[in-house]
Amino acid sequence: MSVIDEVLAANAQYKETHDASLYSPQPRRKLAVLMCMDTRLDRHALGIDFGDAHFIRNAGGIATDDAIRSLLISHYMLGTEEVMVINHTDCGLQKASDEEMHALMEEKAGKPANLPVRFYAFKDVAKNVEEQLERLASHSWVRKELILRGFVYDVKTGRLTEVPWKCRRT
Ligand SMILES: [Zn+2]
Repeated sequence: MSVIDEVLAANAQYKETHDASLYSPQPRRKLAVLMCMDTRLDRHALGIDFGDAHFIRNAGGIATDDAIRSLLISHYMLGTEEVMVINHTDCGLQKASDEEMHALMEEKAGKPANLPVRFYAFKDVAKNVEEQLERLASHSWVRKELILRGFVYDVKTGRLTEVPWKCRRT
């Protein structure tokens, strides 16, 4: 049985007790979280319940064009008012450069990429958070009413630490 088959079996049970009236597409606490996809990062560590917030996740917690697209929809269409950017210690993107990841994947795949891929490798996690905040704030549709704050999550201690950042939006 594959993991996907296990998931399908779990869903067959879950649907028996599902109550759609409990959920709304608008995040209850008007929060959007952009964070790394790392398995050690979890909404439970943030006291966030199902339905409370939007989670936009990718490798690194990077403000890519696509993450910005989702955040704009979250804010303008679904009413979120605050954004947390969360990166974490011991992130995989700190362990190899973009060039090294390209070389590794090209070797394993046995052919070069036919579409461009950028991995957004970084060294300093706090600095990386700052860069994501800057990238978000630089978009003319990210209004100053939308609160942006950045954090580093320590995967060993479970502690979230804010990255000091002064938003220069006008
Ligand atoms: Zn990570």
